[in-house]
Amino acid sequence: MPELPEVQTIVSDLHQTIIGQKIVNFETAWEKALKNTSLSEFKKTILSQKITDIQRRGKNILIFLENDWVILVHLKMTGQLIFQNKPSKNKILRHNFFLESGFLEFRDVRKFGSLNLVKKADLEKYFEKLGIDALNPKFTTQKLTKILQKNKTKNLKSVLLEQNLITGIGNIYASEILFEAKINPHRQTGSLSAIEINQLHRAIKKILRKAVRMRGTSDSDYLDGYGHKGHFQEVLQVYRKNGQKCPICGTIIEKSTIGQRSTFYCPHCQK
Ligand SMILES: [Zn+2]
Repeated sequence: MPELPEVQTIVSDLHQTIIGQKIVNFETAWEKALKNTSLSEFKKTILSQKITDIQRRGKNILIFLENDWVILVHLKMTGQLIFQNKPSKNKILRHNFFLESGFLEFRDVRKFGSLNLVKKADLEKYFEKLGIDALNPKFTTQKLTKILQKNKTKNLKSVLLEQNLITGIGNIYASEILFEAKINPHRQTGSLSAIEINQLHRAIKKILRKAVRMRGTSDSDYLDGYGHKGHFQEVLQVYRKNGQKCPICGTIIEKSTIGQRSTFYCPHCQK
C-alpha cells in the first residue's frame, strides 16, 4: 500500500502537471469506487472545473476544484495515479480524468481504491478522526510520548500503523523505522523509555524524509505521478529481508506476524 512517501511523491509530481487544467471528461470502468456519490453526480460536479490545487493528507490525495469541491482519492492497496500526455490503454486503468492537455489515469489492480467528493468547507470534519501527520512539524517527541502513553497496553508496531493516531506510516516503513530506532516490534508501547521514544521519533522523521527524497518504495505496484518506480526499495534494511543477514550485525532477520501484518526485524539489534 502506498504510504506517506509514495503519496507525497505522487502529489508533488502531479502538482507540476495538472494544476490549472480543466477536467473535460471523466470515464470509469469501475463505478463501485465512487463512495459517496453517483457517477452522474460526480461528473456534474467535476466536469468543466479547473484544478486549483493538489495536496496530501496522510495517505489521501486531495484534488481541489475551482467550485470549492474536492476530489478525494485513496489508492488503498494497489492504486496508481499517473499523468499521461497520451491515452495509455493500460489494462488496469479504472478511471480516467480527461484534462485539457493529457490524462490523469487512476490504475488499480485490486480495485480497492476509492473516489469521494467533499466540500472544501467540510474537509476538517471529514478528516477529524485522522491522526497527526508523521511529517507535520507539530508531531514532536512530546506529541509522540502522549500518543504512546494513551495507548500504553497496545503493541508498539500496531500503534505506528493506526492512522487515527499517527497518519502516513504503513507496513513497510513501520519495520524500517523500528530497525532504525533499534526497538523490537513486539514491545508494548508503555515499556519504552524516554530515550527510546526519542530514538523512535528521530527514526520516523529520518526514514520518511529519506523515502520522500528517494521517491518512495516500488516494492510491488507503486509508481510515481509520471509512471516511474521509486528507489527506496534499493535501501530497505529489513522489510521482506527475512532469512537474510542483518546489515549491521549479521544475525538472520526474522519475520513474524503482528496484528495480522508481516513484520521484519533483527532479533539482535532490536531490543
Ligand atoms: Zn542486527
